Amino acid sequence: MEIIKAVRGFKDILPGETERWQFVEDTARKVFSDFGFKEIKIPVLEKTELFRRSIGETTDIVEKEMYTFEDRGGESLTLRPEATASVMRAYLEHSLHASDAVSKLFTFGPMFRRERPQKGRYRQFHQINVELLGPGDALVDAEVIYMLMLFLERVRLTGVSLEINSLGCPECRPSFRKVLGEYLAKKEKTLCEDCQRRLGTNPLRVFDCKVEGCKAAVSAAPFLIDYICERCKEHFREDQEGLKALKTAFAVNPRMVRGLDYYTKTTFEVTTKSLGAQNAVAGGGRYDRLVKDLGGPEVPGIGFAVGVERLISLLPELMEDIVRSPDLYIASLGQEARKLAFILCNRLRHLGILAETDYSNRSLKSQMKRSDKLGARYTLLLGENELKERKAFLRNMKGGSQEPVGLDDMENQLVSLLKAR
Ligand code: AMP
Repeated sequence: MEIIKAVRGFKDILPGETERWQFVEDTARKVFSDFGFKEIKIPVLEKTELFRRSIGETTDIVEKEMYTFEDRGGESLTLRPEATASVMRAYLEHSLHASDAVSKLFTFGPMFRRERPQKGRYRQFHQINVELLGPGDALVDAEVIYMLMLFLERVRLTGVSLEINSLGCPECRPSFRKVLGEYLAKKEKTLCEDCQRRLGTNPLRVFDCKVEGCKAAVSAAPFLIDYICERCKEHFREDQEGLKALKTAFAVNPRMVRGLDYYTKTTFEVTTKSLGAQNAVAGGGRYDRLVKDLGGPEVPGIGFAVGVERLISLLPELMEDIVRSPDLYIASLGQEARKLAFILCNRLRHLGILAETDYSNRSLKSQMKRSDKLGARYTLLLGENELKERKAFLRNMKGGSQEPVGLDDMENQLVSLLKAR
């Protein structure tokens, strides 16, 4: 019978790789909590309306990529394509704004977008999301970006660049939309069907289109950054000063618009040359209107998302220190030794030592092989003779040296030996 395989664009993450995931998540938890952020856990399924209202009707995500279905009760539901909208929903549903003027939240989890799968692009992928709600200061933008860069440094990522831009606010963006609309109208014939339609609805989205003709059409388009209002300019200037004060290198990329409609003012992206076409590792921005647009009070916010699969694919190959291999392998021969191994192994685990053993009574040689394969630091050799003489041998698997360990009080001796080294 043929085996059933995973759905296209959905992938398994196996042991060997999961250690990297844990390392990334543990590092994120540590760095973010140093900045006062707390974890929030939210569902993967939401009412479709939430994403339509927040991400924007004319974005690629909402137009083409969402996994939307009617459930058995006839309600339209969607597997979340991103996390910010869900975090905002939870923030409003539980009135977090009423209990604290500042909310600093982060979450981990899978996102779902029906894009064409390719290297670095999946239909289920994972993000680490950070959201900071309450203050609208530009220094907060610099702080959040600084935290992102620090996190990437702590997971040992190198060779990345940070790009920032300002998308203006609802007061200044419409005038640019008009200018851009007029500019693009002259090039209408070279645009793809979607972008031709977007000319009337949301010309900024043409910047985001991956079709060659559209990319060429916007290559000489006016910059939004030249049309933003004084307040947005001042905000952007202060943000950049903040980044400089924190010694965070960046470049202004006036072409960056990001794929979601809710962004205002500061936006940013972290890219790397080693990812090919899918070069963004993380991205985010300020969204000062989103909470209000979702029916809440006027609370500004800023956030970012890190693509975990892409990040992990960029980490150094050799990260031996994050993989846990056994401290001790207990090789035993004979019924009595086997029983002693069983007790000792589980008592050591109880004390926080990674111990392994084998109950199969295979030859000591094959048990040693297994110990080697598992990468154990030490092997304890426990045979019939050793039991008779009330002592076993502890073998250092790297150097090959052996030393006797008395059977009485063996547990304490092993703990102090293994913890000391
Ligand atoms: P976005 O929510 O589109 O701003 O994406 C944030 C980050 O998520 C990107 O920088 C990527 O690292 C990652 N990402 C987005 N879409 C995908 C995908 N289809 N597959 C893998 N990673 C993705």
